Amino acid sequence: MARGFNTRCLHLEETEGKTENYGAISYPIFQTATYAHPGVGKSTGFDYSRLQNPTKAQLEKVVADLEGGIDAFALSTGMAAITLLMEIFEPGDHIISEADLYGGSIRLFDNVSKKNHYEFTYLNCSKDDIEAAIRDNTKAIFIETPTNPMMNVSDIEKIAKIAKEHGLLLIVDNTFLSPYFQNPLKLGADVVIHSGTKFLGGHNDTLAGFIVTNNKEIREKLRFLIKTTGAGLAPFDCWLILRGIKTLGIRMEKAQENAIKLANWLKDQPVITKVFYPGLPEHPGYEIMKKQSKGFGSMLTFYVDTKEHALSILEKVRMIKYAESLGGVETLLTYPTTQTHADVPEEVRLRNGITPCTLRLSTGIEDAEDLIDELSQVFAELD
Ligand SMILES: *Cc1c(COP(=O)(O)O)cnc(C)c1O
Repeated sequence: MARGFNTRCLHLEETEGKTENYGAISYPIFQTATYAHPGVGKSTGFDYSRLQNPTKAQLEKVVADLEGGIDAFALSTGMAAITLLMEIFEPGDHIISEADLYGGSIRLFDNVSKKNHYEFTYLNCSKDDIEAAIRDNTKAIFIETPTNPMMNVSDIEKIAKIAKEHGLLLIVDNTFLSPYFQNPLKLGADVVIHSGTKFLGGHNDTLAGFIVTNNKEIREKLRFLIKTTGAGLAPFDCWLILRGIKTLGIRMEKAQENAIKLANWLKDQPVITKVFYPGLPEHPGYEIMKKQSKGFGSMLTFYVDTKEHALSILEKVRMIKYAESLGGVETLLTYPTTQTHADVPEEVRLRNGITPCTLRLSTGIEDAEDLIDELSQVFAELD
C-alpha cells in the first residue's frame, strides 16, 4: 500500500532499513566541495558539489516524491529556480503567464527574460480565454493558483488540457499550497516550481527553491543547466529544508485552521471591506479548490476601508510581524504595494486588484485566539 503523505515526509522507502551513515536518523550534512575517486574513470557517484551532493540528492528525492515527479532540483532561492527554468526556452519563444503572479516573477520576465527576446502575454488565467492568446511561437503557460496576492483560483486540469492540445508546457508555481495541499503534476502540469523558503522550509530561516518535473526531456535539460550555471542549494540549507519538511503536514493543517478562523473573523470587522480566501464558500474559486486541492492553505488577502488604516495596521502590529515572505510558523503581514509587488507597474497592480488598501496575511501556527486578540486591539486603536 502506498504510504501517506506525512510518513513520506519522514521516510523515503528506498533508504529505509539500511544503516548506512552509521544509522543516523537525521540525514547527514555532507559539507564537501569535492569527492575522491576510487580509481581512474571511477566515481562514487559524486564528483563535485556543483553537480551533486548527497544531502542535496536526498532532499531532491524527498521533494520529487511529495510532488509525484520523476526528479526535483534544489536551487538557492525560488527566483533562482524560475530563472534556471527560463533557460530551457529560446529567443523568440512566447509564454502565456498569469498576470497576478509573485512580483519577483513578473520582474524577472519583464526585465531579464524580455531582454533575452522572450515574449509574454499576461492573463487572468482564472477567467480569460487562454486558447485565444496562443500563437505559433507559444511554448508554455505559467500559472500560480491561488494567485499571489489576490487568491484567484485557476482550474489546473482544464489548463493542462489546453496545454497538451497545443503542445505547450504547463508550469505551476505551487508555493502557496505546498505539495501537502496540491500536486499539479498529478493534474497534468509538466513542471512545478516552489519557493522552498516558504512552506517547505517553514521556519522563516532559510532560502531555497525547487523545480520538479515528470518530463524526461526537461529533466535532462535542467541537469545540464544546473551543472553549467551553478545555483544549487548548499548542503546545510538542504538539511534545514529536509528538517522543515518533516513537519510540513502538521504545520499546513494548523496554519490553515488559523486562516479559516481569521478569514471568518475578519469578514465581520467594520474596518475590513473584503476578504479573499478560497476556503470561504462565497469565494469564486471554492468549488475548483475542493476538486483539485486537499485544502485551501493559510494565505489570505483583505481590503481595509482606507489606505491610512491599512498603513496604521502595519505600524501597530506587534506579535504579528510586518514583513515580506510567507509560509513560516510565525504569522506575517505584508503590504504588496510597496513590498512583494513594488516592481509591478501601478496600473497593472490596480488592474489585478492590488490597491493601497490591500494587506496580505500568512497565518502561522500560533493560537488563533492570540492572533484575533492582537488584531482586535490593533483595530480598536485605529482612528
Ligand atoms: C517567494 C515566492 C517566490 C520567490 O521565492 P524566493 O525563495 O523568495 O526567491 C516565487 N513564487 C512565489 C509564489 C513566492 O511566494
